[in-house]
Amino acid sequence: MCGAGGIIFFQSSLAQRLRTAPATVGTRLQVEFFRDRFAFFAAGILPRAAMARAVAWRRIALKAERRPMVKPLPAIFFGHGNPMNAVSVNAYTEAWRRIGEELPRPKAILSISAHWFVSGTSVTAVDAPRTIHDFGGFPRELYDVQYPARGAPGVARRVREVLAPLPVKLDTSWGLDHGTWSVLRHVYPDADVPVIQLSIDETQPPAYHFEIGRRLAPLRDEGIFVLGSGNLVHNLHTYAWGRHTQEPYDWAVTFETRVRELMQSCEFQPLVEYESLGRDAVLSVPTPDHYLPLLYILGAWREGDAIAFPVEGIDGGSISMLAVSIG
Ligand code: ZN
Repeated sequence: MCGAGGIIFFQSSLAQRLRTAPATVGTRLQVEFFRDRFAFFAAGILPRAAMARAVAWRRIALKAERRPMVKPLPAIFFGHGNPMNAVSVNAYTEAWRRIGEELPRPKAILSISAHWFVSGTSVTAVDAPRTIHDFGGFPRELYDVQYPARGAPGVARRVREVLAPLPVKLDTSWGLDHGTWSVLRHVYPDADVPVIQLSIDETQPPAYHFEIGRRLAPLRDEGIFVLGSGNLVHNLHTYAWGRHTQEPYDWAVTFETRVRELMQSCEFQPLVEYESLGRDAVLSVPTPDHYLPLLYILGAWREGDAIAFPVEGIDGGSISMLAVSIG
């Protein structure tokens, strides 16, 4: 794990933090701190003005203590690859299924998919998002797939709130594209966790997307599973499409290896500036749409979070199926 773990205590906005924070270990320690302070007051050591503050703080602290312990959810980037993974059972889809079995159950999923790459930032805010079959030339069975998860308009409004003052549109026209449902069909096969999507603003530079991820991080404490869906290496010109077995291209392996090393040492800035990583980056990321969802997940990384790779492999020579889990 990279980065030193740590808990920040006793900032000026402490009362606000106590009202809103889940009862994590940090909050529990704060509760103990206030108990001690109250004891000082009771013993006549604190002056009268401090006494009133201590009483108010104690009330807030005890309220926080009554809340159940909530562990922050991880945020995960999935390499979704070939749309046929939605209806296949293979090493990748089996790994996705295991992730769903092992994750604490989220209240809702916020998906950032490579396939909603448009002008502006929007979040879906409908009760029943439609299943979008945004591809062509695949077998009938793929078009028959429905992923009937509910939406979560309240969570969409919360996303808009945490991203303020960035303008975020509440969208009622998009639904769930295959970047989302081809993975979730395996992670949550019963479609029983509400799902919303956040668009990727194609007009903005990579640093903007990393910053949005950073602002989404608090949602991990609120039971929201932040999911990125794309591919770290995504070159369809060289992809074998199942016609023959294709060994991974050297530039795909080199780029994936370099990115893994940077992630393991928490050096995110070169990953934001991936276009300066040379020829391997140019071949691996010919367009930004499938790479940028990774930056949202890395943005949601916080000091002390572990980084793991629960799914690995390069499909058809030039599609990295690497999954990146933080937290
Ligand atoms: Zn895709």
